[in-house]
Amino acid sequence: MIRTRFAPSPTGFLHIGGARTALFNWLFAKKHSGQFVLRIEDTDQERSQESYARMLYEDMEWLELDTDENPAKGGSYGPYTQSHRMDIYSRYLQILKDKEAIYPCFCSPKQLREDRHFQLEQGLPPRYSGRCRCLSEKEIQEKILSGEKPCWRFAVPEKGVFILDDLVHGKIEYNYEEIGDFIVQRSDGWPTYLLSAALDDALMEISHVIRGDEHLINSVLQTLIQEALDLPSPRYGHVPMIVGMDRQKLSKRTGAQSVREYRERGFLPESLRAYLSTLSWTPENPLNLLSKDELIEEFSLSRIATSSPVHDEAHLEFWQKKAMAHRGTSWLFDELCHLAPDKETFFREKDRKPLFLLLEDISGACLTPSDVLKSLKWFFSPSALSVPIPEWIPEVVRVLENINDTWESEIINKTLRTYQKEKGLKGREFYHPLRLLLTGEEQGPALPLEMAALGKTETLLRLARR
Ligand code: GLU
Repeated sequence: MIRTRFAPSPTGFLHIGGARTALFNWLFAKKHSGQFVLRIEDTDQERSQESYARMLYEDMEWLELDTDENPAKGGSYGPYTQSHRMDIYSRYLQILKDKEAIYPCFCSPKQLREDRHFQLEQGLPPRYSGRCRCLSEKEIQEKILSGEKPCWRFAVPEKGVFILDDLVHGKIEYNYEEIGDFIVQRSDGWPTYLLSAALDDALMEISHVIRGDEHLINSVLQTLIQEALDLPSPRYGHVPMIVGMDRQKLSKRTGAQSVREYRERGFLPESLRAYLSTLSWTPENPLNLLSKDELIEEFSLSRIATSSPVHDEAHLEFWQKKAMAHRGTSWLFDELCHLAPDKETFFREKDRKPLFLLLEDISGACLTPSDVLKSLKWFFSPSALSVPIPEWIPEVVRVLENINDTWESEIINKTLRTYQKEKGLKGREFYHPLRLLLTGEEQGPALPLEMAALGKTETLLRLARR
């Protein structure tokens, strides 16, 4: 059984990188009729907040990434919140202690800083020096009796290489000599992320872990922990880090990054999903807006690129426009009514056909329903007039009034053109004052389209205003 997981730390909003990780794991599980687990990694008690965990669920739900097991729903491998699994971690830490796979380390932060400084000076890669690895039982007891609280480090093999068979990058060799003994339990007793995630992945029978490149080395360390405990290790696949337009690590400076922010700006889940899926992965036809099922069908790890994708909002906008068009005008109409309940009656009194034609015309240039609403300001009430009104206007009003056919843009267009020609008026000379009377704005969609959508009575009333 394929089992994947998304294991965020609730220390902030779900951001683009995290959402892509969640999406890829979800896609991979679905593709193989597997299970997708949500685990909350809150062992960093100082930075973790319950409210962030709640918002993470909401954002995942909004993205429609359904989970088979999660903290609220439970499942056969629970609990799914790490702070509720402390007894499990203690049990396995004891096994590691009994096996002498880990050892207590009493080095002070100052000592560690000095060691690091020295290594850098020698041109060596900084790593734990191994200072406490050879302490005798007597020395350890003395330190403990004198009140020192150790952290516990994993004793990494001193020689040899570790080969990580990565699902995206292929085989990568790591030299043990370059890997320092890492902490699995902090001096306050809490397990580190390296330990808790390694245990949980094994105990929750996670078969595949897809995550960012920054975790490559963690996969080595976590496999070491799992092997020391004779636990199974998942297969790992690391996807390249998303960078900003400046090719640097994403940061607040480089623009919006949280799913919540895009959501609040009116982006649709399917456009965000489409966008996220293309950050490192390319579907067969990269310009098609794929449905959830099509995405699942097409997704494969073999098509993940190893170079960093750039977070470019223009691409997200491209998908958003596709998604808006795909949802259609009837959906847009309902959204507008929902966004502006005070305008609902005004909308609903209008004739649907010409109103929908106008909405179609406007929405092509808009990113979200609220953008559409903004550009419909004139529709609800025209701005005040600040220019003189030409003497021929009452005549145009009469001509329009005499239209006996259906009040639709083609007929209005023909009628206006005929009048313009007869009068010998130039384009702008004729249409500009009409537009100002009708909407109060300098620019906008084609006038006949606007008039048709407003309806005959409203159009004539506006043209007759002074
Ligand atoms: N809690 C870790 C994070 O949010 C999870 C990393 C992982 O996928 O193992 O970075």
